[in-house]
Amino acid sequence: MKDSNHKPESNNNDIKYVNLYETDNKIYTRKIKGFYQALRRYTGIPLILGFVLLPWINLGDRPAVWFDLPERQFHILSVTFWPQDFMLLAWLLIIAAFLLFTVTVLLGRVWCGFTCPQTVWTLIYIAVEHFFEGDRNKRIKLDSQPWGVEKILRKGAKHTVWLLIAFITGLTFIGYFVPVKELSVGLIPYFDKEHGMLTLDAHPAAIFWVFFFTAITYLNAGWLREQVCKFMCPYARFQSVMYDEDTLAVHYDAARGENRGPRKANQDYKAQGLGDCIDCSWCVQVCPVDIDIRDGLQYECINCGLCVDACNQVMDKMDYPRGLIRFTSDDELKTGKTRFIRPRLFGYLAGVIIMMAAFTTALWVRQPLSVDVLRDRSTQMYRIVRGNVRNVYTVKINNMSETPHTYRIKVSGDAPYELKRYRSVVVNSGEVFSIPVQVMVKKEALPSAKNKIIFTVQSKEDNAVTATETSSFIGPTKK
Ligand code: SF4
Ligand code: SF4
Repeated sequence: MKDSNHKPESNNNDIKYVNLYETDNKIYTRKIKGFYQALRRYTGIPLILGFVLLPWINLGDRPAVWFDLPERQFHILSVTFWPQDFMLLAWLLIIAAFLLFTVTVLLGRVWCGFTCPQTVWTLIYIAVEHFFEGDRNKRIKLDSQPWGVEKILRKGAKHTVWLLIAFITGLTFIGYFVPVKELSVGLIPYFDKEHGMLTLDAHPAAIFWVFFFTAITYLNAGWLREQVCKFMCPYARFQSVMYDEDTLAVHYDAARGENRGPRKANQDYKAQGLGDCIDCSWCVQVCPVDIDIRDGLQYECINCGLCVDACNQVMDKMDYPRGLIRFTSDDELKTGKTRFIRPRLFGYLAGVIIMMAAFTTALWVRQPLSVDVLRDRSTQMYRIVRGNVRNVYTVKINNMSETPHTYRIKVSGDAPYELKRYRSVVVNSGEVFSIPVQVMVKKEALPSAKNKIIFTVQSKEDNAVTATETSSFIGPTKK
């Protein structure tokens, strides 16, 4: 690896030495107002409010959304998901992925520009930065001046607010796993007289994860920012394969803009061979990932539209038509038309519709009850009592509903089985109840040594709530 400062002695001008570990330049984004800047705010605010407020909303005596890991139950509104429902979660993730693909084919990386948590949190952090340190030029000046009272106060206030936002984010995120009200109270330190020290009531694991996510938020939104999008996010790496020539993305209209260059007002710039771009670099100064969209579509571009707002302002000032930088497609720039109806888009859309239909059906037919039957292997395979063959089983009933249920058990299958000493059982919400049962059948009624037996468990309160499980009934070998 060559040092970037090393001057090669070769006379061959084609050889260039590149330092692969180039340091990243700090980005001082210019504040901009416009349609897309407002749109980002209006998509970001409801998402943040939803994220922050949801854990505080209760449904009955529990949070409306609660991922209860110790009990292995996910409560989402009135539905409780169990590990048995893992397939539904898998469906949901596949649907989300296909939705993202569909949107990317149609509108490029709008998810990144408008709704991704990394973008939304960075937007808040930049707003705080603007508030305490001013716009681009003031921040550049502040950073270059020596430390003094003003710099310490401005930077101190910014970092304090950043840390506060990060802490609220960490607390809220863990509030989806631990009831947020108890967690918040548990994080208030108090003096423990018995041990003579300050202490917290929250579980140590909860405290660790709250502070872990506080640190991650502070680092990601405050310091790493665009580097997460450029170097860490896997979506940034593969989204380009979903683009086609009709994908709407932020483009610079080079045919209109070139040749770029400064000009005097009211000058016939076209006569001088100039295009509409005055080379003011505003589009670069507002870009949160520090790229020049005039160099063409780049994988770093998150389609946030801020350069569109910036350039439109410049066009307004120059009295030129807007849209030198705009959301458009390659095809539109070349031929004047974008094809919205295209096979790739319909393929992804069909995938989303089919999977959503499958998911809705699975959710619709999902029973809030599961049954497991184990043949009792600690006793003899079977016993014969007064001409009857007897097998013993353990039936496990899992009530996955929100209310207690009384369940009846029935048996059916290859022979006229009978349950002995059986009583119906009451199982509380969320409880797994195990009941040992004996099944008898007349020896001569058994068709073979190994027979099929079906256990049906049904709720007395709601006959539609039913689950079945198949097992084997073992008898003597037929001669
Ligand atoms: S903002 Fe518009 S006019 Fe200014 S440099 Fe960018 S493309 Fe050219
Ligand atoms: S080039 Fe424009 S749309 Fe792309 S990230 Fe930069 S400002 Fe946003």
